[in-house]
Amino acid sequence: MKPIRYTIVPKHPAAHIFEVTVTVAEPDPSGQRFMLPVWIPGSYMVREFARNIVTLRAFNDAGRKVRIEKTDKHMWQAAPVKGALTLRYEVYAWDMSVRAAHLDDTTGFFNGTSVFLSPLGFEDARCVVDIQKPAGPQFRNWRVATALTEARGTKRYGFGEYTAQNYDELIDHPVTLGEFALATFKAHGVPHDIVIAGRVVGLDMARLSADLKRVCEAQIALFEPRSKKAPMDRYVFMTQAVSDGYGGLEHRASTALICNRSDLPVVGRDEMTDGYRTYLGLCSHEYFHTWNVKRIKPAAFATYDLTQENYTSLLWLFEGFTSYYDDLMLVRSGLIKEADYFTLLGKTIGGVLRGSGRLKQTVAESSFDAWVKYYRQDENAANAIVSYYTKGSLVALAFDLTIRAQTQNRKSLDDVMRLLWQRYGRDFYRGKANGIEESEVEALFTEATGADLSEVFAEGVRGTRDLPLEALLEPFGVKLEADVDAKAKPSLGARVRNGADCALAAVHDGGAAQKAGLSAGDVLIAIDGLRVTGSNLDALLSRYVPGAKVEVHAFRRDELRVAQVKLDGPDVSRYKLTSNNKRASASSARKRWLGK
Ligand SMILES: [Zn+2]
Repeated sequence: MKPIRYTIVPKHPAAHIFEVTVTVAEPDPSGQRFMLPVWIPGSYMVREFARNIVTLRAFNDAGRKVRIEKTDKHMWQAAPVKGALTLRYEVYAWDMSVRAAHLDDTTGFFNGTSVFLSPLGFEDARCVVDIQKPAGPQFRNWRVATALTEARGTKRYGFGEYTAQNYDELIDHPVTLGEFALATFKAHGVPHDIVIAGRVVGLDMARLSADLKRVCEAQIALFEPRSKKAPMDRYVFMTQAVSDGYGGLEHRASTALICNRSDLPVVGRDEMTDGYRTYLGLCSHEYFHTWNVKRIKPAAFATYDLTQENYTSLLWLFEGFTSYYDDLMLVRSGLIKEADYFTLLGKTIGGVLRGSGRLKQTVAESSFDAWVKYYRQDENAANAIVSYYTKGSLVALAFDLTIRAQTQNRKSLDDVMRLLWQRYGRDFYRGKANGIEESEVEALFTEATGADLSEVFAEGVRGTRDLPLEALLEPFGVKLEADVDAKAKPSLGARVRNGADCALAAVHDGGAAQKAGLSAGDVLIAIDGLRVTGSNLDALLSRYVPGAKVEVHAFRRDELRVAQVKLDGPDVSRYKLTSNNKRASASSARKRWLGK
């Protein structure tokens, strides 16, 4: 089979237009069909990338136009041709996220799912993509960052031809174009690039390299304690630094990240800021996916169907466990202290316990409905859904602590991850491998550890009861308690939108606002006759005690209403975890859990 050839040119950076061509040497004689994915693996929402295709034409190998028509929202059908068929189309790229494509005169970025049409029937054909430099002297110093394989004649970081074994590989390698900061380190012998696009003053690439090396080596050693063999030949962390943004998307040999430029380390300042810890946690999270979801997959993803939703109730395992390990690997590799780890854990616990949705939806249900619920949250989300990320990470914690307690610390969740890796992970991209079925998960956990985990499965995965974290943490010398600020103000039982107005973003089930008939979207005007705004609400409430009755004037749409609100107690948003060394056995158990 001849390779499918693509070219991609940043044609009009000012208009955010990539021009793309795809040439099929031996198209389907009955008329070649093409499709563009409706979603990108890792981000479980139908995004309809084809809506950004602006113009599209087809040509035969004599350069004559060939008739082509759309057959549905993301498919095209060309008329039969003799010889090769080429499509030329423009893609509008103005999405500064990790999920789609972006182009202006400072940076270009694309995922293959946004720009490369797939000729149907050629999914297994080799792909060659010619990545071209934009025209103009201002682009002279632009380079290319990607984990795609360079074709012969293309220099690393250079424009030119890159190759992929098939379409699946082509779209699993995002590409960054532009002038970017670059550093390379080796983790257990494998080269890892750090690419930072966007303007960042005083960026400490040496510290980034040293810190990420520790995270990567710890993760490689977790999955391959003996051989320390990484599952890829090369890895690229590509980050777009912006004023305000956060996110990442995992790929088999790279990750695309977006972060606040203020989160990145500054030369000469060695403190661990909250922002930098968040960034390292994000890198750690996406890197862990190199195994968990990119090579160990749920059966539903063992080949992706890119034309529609792919349902699995296992995202608690693939996202939740990854969320558990992201910060855990920071403390285990010594980048953050035990106390910092407990602060992060306390925040996660607070976040999960705040929403009453946790009592209505299981993490398995949340996984299954990710496409229409978790990824499409509205004002009622906290009352209706639970996050398979945060609750999933607490389920992982419950598994880990239960296994450790039952086996006198001989086994842990690490053994589960390793067995998953050995059984389902090997050679995923070199031969056919199966994903894990939901029905196989529980037996595998038991096989890996010998522990009885039926209760964690019943309550944590398939149930909605709160996890007994207090009791689970006790044998490790850790005390868990609500972190209540004695001076905290009473609350409306609602979340207020940021802004000049005091508008309710969400109203909590059973909270003061809901009981008084206030709703998300209502704009509060006055509390007991005093004007309330987005900035003075806290000051007004701080003069009352919980249980006090206040009169609230509010607009719903353009209608004024009056509500009698009985104030709630302070919101508990955080939990405090404190450790003690009174019992030697508990201290040593904790060391085995959090230590190197
Ligand atoms: Zn993730």
